[in-house]
Amino acid sequence: MPDSFDVIIIGSGPGGYVCALRAAQLGMKVACVEKRATLGGTCLNIGCIPSKALLQSSENFTAAAHDFAAHGVTIGEISLDLPRMMARKNEVVSANVKGVEFLFRKNKVTWLKGAARIAAPGTVEVDGTAYTAKHIVIATGSESVPLAGIEVDETRIVTSTGALALQTVPKHLAVIGGGYIGLELGSVWRRLGAEVTVIEFLERIVPGMDAEIARAFERILTKQGIKFRLRTKVAGARLTDAGVVLTTEPAAGGEAQEITADVVLLAIGRRPNTAGLNLDGVGVALDERGRIRVDAHWATTIPGIYAIGDVIAGPMLAHKAEDEGVAVAERLAGQAGHVNYGVIPGVVYTWPEVAAVGQTEEELKAAGVEYRVGKFPFTANGRARAMGDTDGFVKILADKATDRILGAHIIGPDAGTLIAELATAMEFGAAAEDVGRICHAHPTLSEAVKEAALAVEGRALHI
Ligand SMILES: Cc1cc2nc3c(=O)[nH]c(=O)nc-3n(C[C@H](O)[C@H](O)[C@H](O)COP(=O)(O)OP(=O)(O)OC[C@H]3O[C@@H](n4cnc5c(N)ncnc54)[C@H](O)[C@@H]3O)c2cc1C
Repeated sequence: MPDSFDVIIIGSGPGGYVCALRAAQLGMKVACVEKRATLGGTCLNIGCIPSKALLQSSENFTAAAHDFAAHGVTIGEISLDLPRMMARKNEVVSANVKGVEFLFRKNKVTWLKGAARIAAPGTVEVDGTAYTAKHIVIATGSESVPLAGIEVDETRIVTSTGALALQTVPKHLAVIGGGYIGLELGSVWRRLGAEVTVIEFLERIVPGMDAEIARAFERILTKQGIKFRLRTKVAGARLTDAGVVLTTEPAAGGEAQEITADVVLLAIGRRPNTAGLNLDGVGVALDERGRIRVDAHWATTIPGIYAIGDVIAGPMLAHKAEDEGVAVAERLAGQAGHVNYGVIPGVVYTWPEVAAVGQTEEELKAAGVEYRVGKFPFTANGRARAMGDTDGFVKILADKATDRILGAHIIGPDAGTLIAELATAMEFGAAAEDVGRICHAHPTLSEAVKEAALAVEGRALHI
């Protein structure tokens, strides 16, 4: 008799491991299959956590090199110990992945080590051994999208995985793709001394984010020394002794050019990871972009099989995967698990950070919604001045008739933390006036949020 579970979850990323923990909390007998040597998926091993560790370290390096002196802190010549920085990043990853292992033990979740294949509804094979389950949840995540003509070797032409583990600082790093992963990792290596050129097919960076914020972001990153080649497509790459030579062409067509870089980071997006699962065999349908098709309750086209996280539609973000994991576990337990896709914050962890929740101005215009805008710059915020971090602004979009907050966009210090207040406000259906009337501690960056809310009614006080 094969081992049998209430639920087998395939993949231990933030979608899978959180689903496993919640299902165990709700009294189910749970197994989670993971083929990687450590738990935690892309996010903990090669995504969110190592990138944030390097962003923090490189931020500290830049602050010491350029900012401390203005505060009257003189530290003489500083130098970079890259092996130590990388070792610290690995320690941070290790602590996090061991944390998930501990949580599995604490919640009695069985880790089935190996690669899973769905033999039939209710049966999962892990490296050939069969297990049965009442429910199967697919949480196999995503992988970097390849580009024709660019062969990744993870040394000279790298994905984010290679860019998180370079042994030396490249003289010139070319980043293909102006999305958040390219900009975060481009920032890391720029701060550590690399010349960085971002090549983007579209006429703007961070597609999907509010266009005004994207323009401000590009200006700030340009000030930090990152170069941008927008409306440019990469047609091919060749390895030479002088470096990787990229052939680029104007996106609209035209004469080809070449860029030579020591390292090229390919960061044009991620695609769902479904290989080897036997989805075809069991009849689980995919959509036109290769994502697993699910209904409003994460059920696939085959009864008893569910899917969550990067492998289905929606923003490829860890917290979106986590919330789906919780919701599907609750559904399996007969509860009313739910995710509000209208209020999922997105953050770019550069410095300044960029954060958004809800709709952009472009989306509101396209939907014909009448709205008002309230903006407040960090140059007018006392705490930002005290920190010496005055780049950026808070922008709140509110319904013209009801004042309900429809979207919020922040570029500035700690934007990723500040956005939580506006996500909370949106979940409670708050009006901009509600946020403007809340007492915010002084002096804090959050006062810029309050002032932007007041600005919706044209009554900001400190500008
Ligand atoms: C460089 C980088 C930085 C990022 N930074 C952020 C960030 O700051 N914030 C944020 O919200 N998101 C960030 N992301 C995105 C985030 O990592 C993903 O959205 C998130 O990990 C998706 O979670 P998931 O559970 O769907 O899948 P994943 O985390 O991808 O986990 C899937 C797991 O399934 C396993 N698996 C796959 N197939 C099988 C199989 N057949 N059998 C067994 N196991 C299998 C894989 O080994 C993997 O461990 C980042 C991503 C990258 C690459």
